[in-house]
Amino acid sequence: MKFTAPLAAVAACLVTACAQDQSAPSSASAPHEPSISIGAAGPVLTAPRKRRAPASYNAVNTSRPFVALTFDDGPHPQLTPQLLDVLRKEGVRATFYVIGRNVETYPEIARRIVAEGHEIANHSWSHPTLTAISAARLEKEITSTTEVIQRVTGRTPTNMRPPYGAVNERVRQSMFKNHGFDVIMWSVDPLDWRRPGAAVVRQRLVDGAKPGGILLAHDIHPGTIEAMPGTIRDLKAKGFGFATVSQLLALQDAPAPRSAPLLPDQAAVRRSE
Ligand SMILES: [Zn+2]
Repeated sequence: MKFTAPLAAVAACLVTACAQDQSAPSSASAPHEPSISIGAAGPVLTAPRKRRAPASYNAVNTSRPFVALTFDDGPHPQLTPQLLDVLRKEGVRATFYVIGRNVETYPEIARRIVAEGHEIANHSWSHPTLTAISAARLEKEITSTTEVIQRVTGRTPTNMRPPYGAVNERVRQSMFKNHGFDVIMWSVDPLDWRRPGAAVVRQRLVDGAKPGGILLAHDIHPGTIEAMPGTIRDLKAKGFGFATVSQLLALQDAPAPRSAPLLPDQAAVRRSE
């Protein structure tokens, strides 16, 4: 990876102390959540080094030129290993929102995800709409996935992504209180599940990338994997580096300036995936 001098300093931070900081400050991305303190100038961080309220992120407020590549719904027996090959070749770390039952079926791929330096995080056991299931089932979906990730990889996830981006205050509270999870959405959705072709996926991801961006993709579609070498090349050419979601959270700036609008809570508008 080629970095200018300031970027090299950030990269060093990413792989050492900052990467280990799991107590990133809570910054709200949903403007309608009464449980999260939102000031006129943006999210108010009342306790910058400690999570105090449920938080969801569409993107991370940072001026540093990093994005997080995220891949949902795997592990897939053929495509995830292909993707891991690409990421290794490009020297890029990503975040995998895995489905628990797929981890149980393909434990060796989950282990490889972790062994190669990627973040592994919770995307539920069977991919239901979390807002539509009982509290008991919600607990089972999330707990069983965390448990299989721990058993297979030895890692404990620190954040989750709700299937279909479906989240409400009940789910957010449960993720925070019962699991200590941040809820991670996305800032760029290439709609790769519609299989528009690798070139379109690449263009949408690259065009949408901004510092602190969280890029959504799925490692269960061949075109997505095909798009990745070019996507990564283009993003590097635009000056971006790559962080896992936890690393990106650790790069948060102070509260956003007045001129930076909050991103909308995409859960409210997007129900398809
Ligand atoms: Zn999914």
